Amino acid sequence: MRRRPRSHRPKFLPPPGQARREGHRRYNRTRRDPDAQAIYDSARWKRVRALKIDADPLCEVCEREGRTTLAAQVHHVVKVRDEPGRAYDMANLMSVCRSCHARIEDRDGSGG
Ligand SMILES: [Zn+2]
Ligand SMILES: [Zn+2]
Repeated sequence: MRRRPRSHRPKFLPPPGQARREGHRRYNRTRRDPDAQAIYDSARWKRVRALKIDADPLCEVCEREGRTTLAAQVHHVVKVRDEPGRAYDMANLMSVCRSCHARIEDRDGSGG
């Protein structure tokens, strides 16, 4: 049996151009209102969310910036808290990766 030469390359190489300012993430999910939380917990939301990820499996923010990243979460453009009626509206949803989502939520300061 042949022994594989040990590689000194790190297993994880960040893709070039990937933003390096991930250090200051403060993803604050403490101030969720109960109505919004009920929507997030609902079977309907889970279904819509899965549909959205299925339709747009890539992070839409990364895509816009020329990166290809798998979406991990679904973001509400208009907050559930602001317009609960749009919680399941596909046109109001965005597929996002974790870091883009954290960045978006950090910027506008609310969950969703
Ligand atoms: Zn992204
Ligand atoms: Zn969001």
